[in-house]
Amino acid sequence: MLREVMRHAEGLLREAGIDTPELDARLLTGAALGMTREHMLIHATARLNQPQVARVLGFVARRVGREPVSRILGRREFWSLDFTLSPATLDPRPDSETVVEEALAGVADRQASLSVLDLGTGTGCLLLAVLSELPKATGLGIDRSEEAVETARANARRLGLGQRARFSTGDWASGIEDRFDLVISNPPYIPDADIEALAPEVTRFDPPAALAGGPDGLDAYRTIVAQLPGVLKPGGRIIFEVGFGQSADVSALLRAAGFGRIGVRKDLGGVERVVFGHLDA
Ligand code: GLN
Repeated sequence: MLREVMRHAEGLLREAGIDTPELDARLLTGAALGMTREHMLIHATARLNQPQVARVLGFVARRVGREPVSRILGRREFWSLDFTLSPATLDPRPDSETVVEEALAGVADRQASLSVLDLGTGTGCLLLAVLSELPKATGLGIDRSEEAVETARANARRLGLGQRARFSTGDWASGIEDRFDLVISNPPYIPDADIEALAPEVTRFDPPAALAGGPDGLDAYRTIVAQLPGVLKPGGRIIFEVGFGQSADVSALLRAAGFGRIGVRKDLGGVERVVFGHLDA
């Protein structure tokens, strides 16, 4: 019966050293059976047929192989919105909501027709979360991967933001002729040598191109900061997500490029997660 299969799944996950075996077993069982949590509680003693059990165990085997639950489900919630993932996109992290918070904190009038550029958009989560809060804003999301661009476009359509968000492949901001009020970016920032020490959920399943930031992790910031004066309106704002311990270095890059009103914002874990600055006119 359902409850037994779920307990069995939990046991397999615990044995494999997964941190949250009970939660993961519930999520994977629900997804494998197409049942909500309430539905599963009500039908806890229902008998499962062989294909249903096989489907649950298939999902559990993937999790034992360290595939994140979000990848197995193919979706992840971010800013209370539902995003589809693909192998070409980073799995959105709760920490990245700090970028959205900072973007909104700096907007005086939420009804303004702001334009937003998202560099390295992946699933589109940052851009679409910002647009979801600013009903008259429009945006462009850039990613080097065509597959990511298609995933982001599909996410925009499903979230009802397809009319206000465009996506296109590109090399950060090169070749972009428009100018924007706001540029946001969560570029790859892990120093190359640190990558192999990350959790297998990250190293095996997030796209390496979304993680690897060069020898000191700052390669993408250097490239983007050099391009910003060509894509920001005078007075426009850049908001970067940064890795642990990088806020001073990224602030210094912005200062050296002539940016003003530079600041940092912490994530919920108290880590300086966001660096912002303005292209002062
Ligand atoms: N936040 C991701 C991690 O900690 C890294 C994402 C990035 O490099 N932008 O694994």
